Amino acid sequence: MVHLIKSLFLVGLECPLRMWFQIKRPDLIPETTSDERHRMEEGIEIGKLACGLYPGGQRIETENVSFDEAIAQTADLMEDESIPAIFEASFQFDNVRIRVDILVRAENNQWDIVEVKSSTGVKEEYYYDVGFQYMVLKSLGIKLGKAGLMHLNREYKYDSQNYKLDELFSLEDLTSEVLEREAVLAQNVRLFIEVIAAEQPPEPNISTHCRACIFFEHCPYHHAEYPTLLLPRIGKDKYESLRQMGIEDIRDIPGDFKLSDKQKMVKDCVTGESEYIAPELREELSKLEYPLYFLDFESFSTALPHFPGTRPYDQIVFQWSCHKQHQDGALEHFEFLNNDDNDPREAFIKSLIEMIGDKGTIIHYAPFEKTRLGELADFFPQYRDPLSQIIERLWDLLQFLYRNYYHYKMKGSYSIKKVLPILVPELSYDDLKIQEGGMAALGYIHLLNPETEPEMKADIRESLLKYCERDTLAMVEIFRVIREKTA
Ligand code: SF4
Repeated sequence: MVHLIKSLFLVGLECPLRMWFQIKRPDLIPETTSDERHRMEEGIEIGKLACGLYPGGQRIETENVSFDEAIAQTADLMEDESIPAIFEASFQFDNVRIRVDILVRAENNQWDIVEVKSSTGVKEEYYYDVGFQYMVLKSLGIKLGKAGLMHLNREYKYDSQNYKLDELFSLEDLTSEVLEREAVLAQNVRLFIEVIAAEQPPEPNISTHCRACIFFEHCPYHHAEYPTLLLPRIGKDKYESLRQMGIEDIRDIPGDFKLSDKQKMVKDCVTGESEYIAPELREELSKLEYPLYFLDFESFSTALPHFPGTRPYDQIVFQWSCHKQHQDGALEHFEFLNNDDNDPREAFIKSLIEMIGDKGTIIHYAPFEKTRLGELADFFPQYRDPLSQIIERLWDLLQFLYRNYYHYKMKGSYSIKKVLPILVPELSYDDLKIQEGGMAALGYIHLLNPETEPEMKADIRESLLKYCERDTLAMVEIFRVIREKTA
């Protein structure tokens, strides 16, 4: 029997059909990526760490224990007044099951709920997340005090000792926000219990969020080859207007429908199965100064900071790759990958400054490199001047393409992984063990782990070097193809 649990409830709020797919068609759910797995493990670790703020609290085991047993254990601990808090407290009401991260014994026989998140702030969806638990406990007749959300404090600085839990975490009181949503919560719980029991799919909630839905390709409400959702910066209102006109495909948008210049250009490309090259493209390229440096960084960020002075989710750069192209077309490759388990950033900065010289345009893809350089200049003020000079020489190839180029096969995306197979089909990432930034970050985290075998470390290093080099080579090739289009 499928029970309504919190994760299903939150999916259902976005789209009941998506929730139905999740239950009835688990075969369509994409495999969890290693990056997602890492984030989940990190979330579990943070949840356990937060329990340290409630000394004397008791944990309900979740592994190898049936849900009914967990409910019984929770009831026993609630009876025992010497227990100040219960972790993973488990409850069922009707067909709804919940586990409360931290249930805190409060005054006057009341209980406070604390939901622990590895985020650094409160999001709208958390009101429903906490509210769902609040509602179940209330339905069971449990006297409730506060509904709280504990998240990481982005300003907390790690000092390389143990984490100072009272500084690492912030607790927000969401009680009033939860109470404001009580009626909506109750109504949706009833609706979703029916959806779970039904054989027929429910009504969908179609909107711009469909673009990110894992069932998009299987959803019976999206048939178009070039969905209007792929128009750049299409807002909810414009998307809804088109839908109400029965228009799903970009090619069917009538000529008098108001589109931005960019959206109109995309529509023209899709309709004509063609590409767009802006007249300004050649002039912009003529301003670049040789030698050209095609530069790419890799970084990792963890919820719990690793190095002294860093904060939750600080991006720690550990690798760069650079292809240097001279005016005659000659190409050289340079690279850096940190080689120990210390904070890699200072070695990263020094090697970069040494390699990059003081003239020539530095080409990067997306704002990532610029943002990281700014952060490095703030964290290491002794390198502010040379880093600022590097920042002044940056030129964003993605922004350049966004302004000046479109190919109908790009389907609204300018990501390098999408653009490369269209412009340079002979070059890909398919032969590499690491094929995207999330995998690279995870690879480096494995390198930092003292338990990783030396052979495995050597393999990861080699894969990281190949991946980052491929990124900058991809930029060189995309740039070459674009420049040839102006010849
Ligand atoms: S694509 Fe949209 S309508 Fe279809 S299941 Fe996903 S969210 Fe719902």
